[in-house]
Amino acid sequence: MIRLSDLKLPLNHSEFELRNAILQKLSLSDSELLDFTIFKRSYDARKKNNILLIYLIDIVLPPAIEQRLLADKKLQSVVRISPNTDYTLLAQAPSDFPNEAQMRPVIIGFGPCGILAALVLAQMGLKPIVLERGQDVRQRTKDTWGLWRERKLNTESNVQYGEGGAGTFSDGKLYSQVKDRRFLGRKVMTEFVKAGAPEEILMVSKPHIGTFKLVKMVENIRAEITRLGGEIRFNAKVETIHREASSDSQGQITGITLEDSQHLATRHIILAIGHSARDTFKMLLDQGAYIEAKPFSIGFRIEHPQSVIDKARFGDQAGHPILGAADYKLVHHCKNGRSVYSFCMCPGGTVVAATSEVGRVVTNGMSQYSRNERNANSAIVVGIEPEKDYPEHILAGIDLQQSLETLAYKLGGENYNAPAQLVGDYLRNTPSTQIGSVTPSYKPGISLGDLSQALPEFANEAIREAIPAFDKQIKGFAMNDAILTGIETRTSSPICIKRGKDYQNLNTKGLYPAGEGAGYAGGILSAGIDGIKVAEAVAIDLLGLDIAI
Ligand code: FAD
Repeated sequence: MIRLSDLKLPLNHSEFELRNAILQKLSLSDSELLDFTIFKRSYDARKKNNILLIYLIDIVLPPAIEQRLLADKKLQSVVRISPNTDYTLLAQAPSDFPNEAQMRPVIIGFGPCGILAALVLAQMGLKPIVLERGQDVRQRTKDTWGLWRERKLNTESNVQYGEGGAGTFSDGKLYSQVKDRRFLGRKVMTEFVKAGAPEEILMVSKPHIGTFKLVKMVENIRAEITRLGGEIRFNAKVETIHREASSDSQGQITGITLEDSQHLATRHIILAIGHSARDTFKMLLDQGAYIEAKPFSIGFRIEHPQSVIDKARFGDQAGHPILGAADYKLVHHCKNGRSVYSFCMCPGGTVVAATSEVGRVVTNGMSQYSRNERNANSAIVVGIEPEKDYPEHILAGIDLQQSLETLAYKLGGENYNAPAQLVGDYLRNTPSTQIGSVTPSYKPGISLGDLSQALPEFANEAIREAIPAFDKQIKGFAMNDAILTGIETRTSSPICIKRGKDYQNLNTKGLYPAGEGAGYAGGILSAGIDGIKVAEAVAIDLLGLDIAI
């Protein structure tokens, strides 16, 4: 099979035209084209009056013609042999595994990273035990709505904690910019489709699942892990990890203790705890794990009518079913040396209350698969760095996040309302007193005022410069009535739990830091990919395999 790339057709083309375009591009007769499938479809909307669909197509041809096309120099940049994107397990454990209880690997956290790690270990017959501090996804959904509807926060079962991890109540965007030579992202997506995600996620260039479908999918993957001999325990917060004291400061993991004092012996821990487990970060540092501070970002959520974004991106084609609700990705480098960028853009979605701590307010965004809510939202954030902005100690980034989240809680009125301001008022530096044409979607509610009080001055200066600059790319971005809601602090982890080439923590043997919390992923897909990598590293060590990954 060969793969043809960069095949462009007008937005409203027919199936017949697609076939014809392949024949034309490759100078084939109709009978020579035995079969074809769309591997990926993206679009180019730079010219609004001529939006193009761009295809990657897998094509079946008679062998002699395939050879001819592969040898054709004129086609070299667009034709190649279709790579095999199937995933092969590294190994299969012996059927009597484990012969000692402590051989079973333990995974802390059941977000996308822990889920994929557990699934791959279970598929290899390594019977992982997953410990998740939050509740199963059904109970967790009720608990999360408790904050959104009744202002009741459950600190162990919320947007950040519980089955499915942080991205469960999300837009479920599934793309990433990580290098993926082994097509591990394809493995993640294929498992998601097997578990009930829409099949089109394998084909479109910017797939998303949306919240409701994610919930069902996560339950199905859990059932598969259990069927394969894995075990998943909810309401199981890991309070301490144990490591041997070692003269060469390479202590070996020996086990964990749960909050209810239960002890579990193990020599392999995958640490997939996400970016919000601040208590667990502290425990890890106290226990001697090697951790460094890292950059992250702070800012606000911005909400516009989705129709404004659609019009700005797609012109007269706004609302076209293939294009769906429009997204955007924006960056601005400011005069004060800071960079402002859009993050976690949720077309047709809502702004959500995403705190996991009492007396704090944090925003984030989610959508359903249909993306048909009235507003578009994204985080507009400013990059900050440990050396410049929180140099005091390794966990000082967490202190900064907490102080900003506490301030946002106070500005919101100390009832989990989020502080908010109209974009026009924010740019003019005037407190807002009344909403305009954009109805804010944040629940349980917003409190209008002066949002600039929620951020350091350099960040306000940068965002005030960036929003008008973004308006040049997305007409209407700086519209007076767009809403800013505070505060975004959990854009990524404020620390990196460093690992070496063997995926183990630099000074703790048997501890495999992974996913977003450890600083090795940013988003659902990359966290899932990282989960597979660490599962493989654990298998190599456990089974004594002589394989480099
Ligand atoms: P997490 O998903 O955070 O999972 C970590 C898990 O570890 C949690 O369930 C937690 O309860 C558990 N845990 C922590 N400490 C302990 C402990 N001591 N003991 C036991 N368990 C513990 N990304 C996208 O790619 N697309 C999106 O559309 C998107 N939208 C988002 C919307 C929202 C509202 C949020 C909050 C995030 C969103 N993200 C999105 C980011 C994405 O969710 C994360 O990048 C991803 O979930 C990280 O995966 P992870 O497995 O590394 O960590």
